[in-house]
Amino acid sequence: MWREFWPRALLTCAIGACSVLGDFGLRYGRSESARAAFDNATHATVGGLTWTLIVVLSRKSVARNLNSVFSCFLLASFIDLDHFIAARSWHIHDATHLQKRPFLHCTTVPIVLWTLFISFSNAFHSPLLEHTSWVILAAFLSHHIRDGTRRGLWFCPFGSTRPIPYYLYVSLCMSLPYILHWLMRLHTFTPKSNDDIILIDV
Ligand SMILES: [Zn+2]
Repeated sequence: MWREFWPRALLTCAIGACSVLGDFGLRYGRSESARAAFDNATHATVGGLTWTLIVVLSRKSVARNLNSVFSCFLLASFIDLDHFIAARSWHIHDATHLQKRPFLHCTTVPIVLWTLFISFSNAFHSPLLEHTSWVILAAFLSHHIRDGTRRGLWFCPFGSTRPIPYYLYVSLCMSLPYILHWLMRLHTFTPKSNDDIILIDV
């Protein structure tokens, strides 16, 4: 039991600590580009840690799932590219001074993508599509929750919530892997691990 407890506790604390540290960097960074780089690195790390904890909760090997950990890490970072697309400029000042929030920051987008991928995975019985749908959801939600403490969650075209209170945001970041893992268990058709197979002597 303790063997399972420590990695989970460590990763949960790492997500919280990384989020808080990232916010310090964002507040006290020397230049605009340093603050943006630090913020983006935090998004990527929190995304990667979120998926690592989901892998650990699923009792799978992290070493064998590095691909998906890295995908979640990259996707959580790439979401901020929409700032540059919306600004039509590669200058950090233009990208961080937009009139309205860029399109990938709308939380309706990952919900729609998740629904599409899950529907296709059901239609084609594809565990890969199912897996991808959860990686996308984890990367987007970890990113949006972090941004949500400053600007709230944006559900276009319906509107935005108020900014998420700071401690609620940190707790949400830390509980997201548990919530997603629980939802994944409700919806899965991937083969069960060997541990679950009951051997019958004949
Ligand atoms: Zn962002």
